[in-house]
Amino acid sequence: MQLDFQGKKALIRVDFNVPLNANNEITDDTRIQAALPTIKHALDNGGAVILMSHLGRPMKKLKEDGSINREKFTLHHIVNHLSQQLGRDVQFCDETVGEKATTMANALEPGQVLVLENTRFNKGEKKGDEAFAEALSQLADLYINDAFGTAHRAHASTTTVAQFFPQGAKSFGFLMEAEIKNANKVLNNPDRPLTAIIGGAKVSDKILLLERLIDFVNNLIIGGGMAYTFFKAQGGQIGNSLVEDDRLELAKELLKKAAAKGVNILLPEDSIVADNFSNEANIDSVNSNSIADGWMGLDIGEKARASFSETILNSQTILWNGPMGVFEMSNFANGTKTIAEMVAKATNQGAFSLVGGGDSVAAVKQMGLANEVSYVSTGGGAMLEFLEGKELPGIKAIKG
Ligand code: AMP
Repeated sequence: MQLDFQGKKALIRVDFNVPLNANNEITDDTRIQAALPTIKHALDNGGAVILMSHLGRPMKKLKEDGSINREKFTLHHIVNHLSQQLGRDVQFCDETVGEKATTMANALEPGQVLVLENTRFNKGEKKGDEAFAEALSQLADLYINDAFGTAHRAHASTTTVAQFFPQGAKSFGFLMEAEIKNANKVLNNPDRPLTAIIGGAKVSDKILLLERLIDFVNNLIIGGGMAYTFFKAQGGQIGNSLVEDDRLELAKELLKKAAAKGVNILLPEDSIVADNFSNEANIDSVNSNSIADGWMGLDIGEKARASFSETILNSQTILWNGPMGVFEMSNFANGTKTIAEMVAKATNQGAFSLVGGGDSVAAVKQMGLANEVSYVSTGGGAMLEFLEGKELPGIKAIKG
């Protein structure tokens, strides 16, 4: 972050979209922790800080009378916790832009922190509205985007606002810098073999990613519910497993393309199957291409765990997105657990590993292995789009 903060006011877009319980208490403050280094840096270098973020989806969950549920979605819920974490007072303005926000911003002294109300209380936020963005920009001298989780959205506070600051007065924060740097380690000249592990429910969500990966990975491990579309595409019997019949042709094409490029595709040879989508169901272990009717594959089997493990341990760069099974149920979590352990072990042996995407991140954290992999991304959708090769609007806005 090459900005001079001395005597300046910095408008920082952070991601404070934290989960809250019924009493509006923060249940996981990872996103707040992730934003602290940038905030502290600005304060320690003589700046004042104005923070803005969205919280939840207030426009999708309006009150019965059509008004915004301010009590539920106010960013005030994070103020006390932030104040504790920073060890200093944090002011709050109950509007995002307007007279009050301007007065409070103007009065800020170096070292002081102001949190603006939820950006999504304003209709212009998601539309990327210029007037709203300009009003935000007038509150400060500098703009910093540190909200990687929303970098794929061309919203007013993540993208449009940047155009009102000249180069030299805008920058990525430390979190954004780290996300970009680590994703680029996988995309640009990675040490090889490079292995991507892709899991989760649907092929359709990850088509672009799979297509792109086939262009440059050495090994592509496909697990989770999406694997069964590939087995069916090859004529396998998959019983009642998850399948997308409208993606069978696409699955076939992906396999063909991979073969032509010399990419080693690993599908789970065997599966843990269940006669019901439940942790209490009867379970069995069978080959993934001969699952009887009435049974569904809910996790990868023992042979698949062994072969995936071997490939992971022989890799120098690893990208993991998506669970290997229905890991939320303990009987179907073993595949995902094994992958997490192996990615950690490979990292320990010198490989670079990037875990990105909500559920694989949750799995790694659940197992206490978040510190044993090289980088855990904070942005699910944003990381996916970055890896797909798309230029994220929030990144482009800063780079120019
Ligand atoms: P995604 O959001 O696409 O990464 O998918 C994550 C979800 O996929 C998790 O909630 C898993 O429970 C689910 N999932 C993974 N494997 C399977 C499977 N074999 N059958 C059904 N759902 C699965």
